[in-house]
Amino acid sequence: MTARIRLQPEAIGMGMTSQRVRDRLIDRLRETGIRDERVLNAIRTVPRHLFVDEAFATRAYEDTALPIGHGQTISQPWVVAKMTEALLQDAQPKRVLEVGTGSGYQAAILAALGLEVFTVERIGELLRTARKRFRTLGMNIRSKHDDGRIGWPELGPFDAIIVTAAAPALVSALTDQLAPGGTLVAPVGGAASQSLLRLRKDADGVIEETNLAPVVFVPLLSGMID
Ligand code: SAH
Repeated sequence: MTARIRLQPEAIGMGMTSQRVRDRLIDRLRETGIRDERVLNAIRTVPRHLFVDEAFATRAYEDTALPIGHGQTISQPWVVAKMTEALLQDAQPKRVLEVGTGSGYQAAILAALGLEVFTVERIGELLRTARKRFRTLGMNIRSKHDDGRIGWPELGPFDAIIVTAAAPALVSALTDQLAPGGTLVAPVGGAASQSLLRLRKDADGVIEETNLAPVVFVPLLSGMID
């Protein structure tokens, strides 16, 4: 898998968004256990400061979640790295569904890894902003404004599914849309305590579950808003 994005001049960045600052984030991710060089390379390449408001651009390469409006957050880079690593481990996914586009950053990381990305977001305004970012970066990512708890049945099954908001339990429509041999990564739990789970579906449709880490995500909510 190779990085396939064209960097625009504004993406090269200066000062707090310079390559040196970005490399420091990569060092930190290595120190905190991220090993997959493909994932580290995607994070080095995709300009995270273009996925947050200008007011937060100087903090874009800290290993922290940041607000993106509507009470939502762009996930912490370590969490993005961990989830992406979990999707690629012992698997060669081609088509991946993301539930919870948010800023579009996680989708952009998956696209930079050469995956065909489908992403669903329930908040119209966030999705419109994310789509502009995909265009700026020349990324061909398919997206729709919908309640992602139904997945994207017309386009499934998917080799991989990543859910970036927490539900109290696994959503069966999503596990149904996972292809045999596929991997699903999702935070599961309530506001107080959530676990990042990885599910592997074998060729017979039997699901095996691994608990990867404790995490904190915004909730997976029902319905759509403009
Ligand atoms: N992957 C995002 C993380 C955003 S936070 C990023 O890289 O920035 C989680 C997102 O999930 C929020 O934008 C929230 O609106 C969205 N979300 C919550 N419930 C949803 C649902 N049922 N369907 C689709 N998106 C949902």
